[in-house]
Amino acid sequence: MPEAVVQFKRIVFPGRFQPVHKGHIEVIRWLLERSNELAIVIGSAQKSHMVDNPFTAGERILMFIESLKEEGISRERVLIVPVQDIEYNSIWVSYLESLLPPFDGVASRNPLVVRLFKERGYPVLIPPMFMRGDYSGKRIRERMLNGQEWKSLVPEPVAKIIDKIGGVQRLVNVSMTDEVEG
Ligand code: NAD
Repeated sequence: MPEAVVQFKRIVFPGRFQPVHKGHIEVIRWLLERSNELAIVIGSAQKSHMVDNPFTAGERILMFIESLKEEGISRERVLIVPVQDIEYNSIWVSYLESLLPPFDGVASRNPLVVRLFKERGYPVLIPPMFMRGDYSGKRIRERMLNGQEWKSLVPEPVAKIIDKIGGVQRLVNVSMTDEVEG
């Protein structure tokens, strides 16, 4: 296979990362072959303790810090920036421009993210799908809720962080209701 050509100075990689999984790490490796720097945007930073968004921004940052260390990926080329959502999709990319150092492209498979960046004239890199059937935040959260094995789908440090904070129990708790049947 021909070697990838570095095309970007700094590329943005946005996601919710609920939780960080092995697919995200594969994407990061792939992107670092194409960009000198990577700005990981931890999106929906204000959200936590929800079925779709169980982990805080701080917990997700720690998941990246520990996983990158374990994977031997230098932090010198990777920024990690938590970003809260805003109501206005139409100005989201400008909002990111005001929060991040200058960037010259985005990497995403999320259709809304791709659309918003294209409309602002940015090149978009679509990373390959790395075992999306298994390496998927939704699938991993479902497995946690159903008591199924999930640790093999996330980097080891992520599993340790989730265990330490009682993440699975948190997910189970926030999925419950105090309504009574009938
Ligand atoms: P995600 O964590 O589901 O995915 C992050 C990225 O990794 C995506 O591009 C996804 O396609 C990719 N990915 C996941 N698994 C993969 C695999 N196995 N192989 C290859 N790629 C894989 O996050 P997301 O839902 O894309 O996050 C987008 C974030 O941007 C959200 O926080 C959203 O709220 C935010 N956003 C905010 C606004 C706003 O504030 N108005 C607008 C648009 C997007």
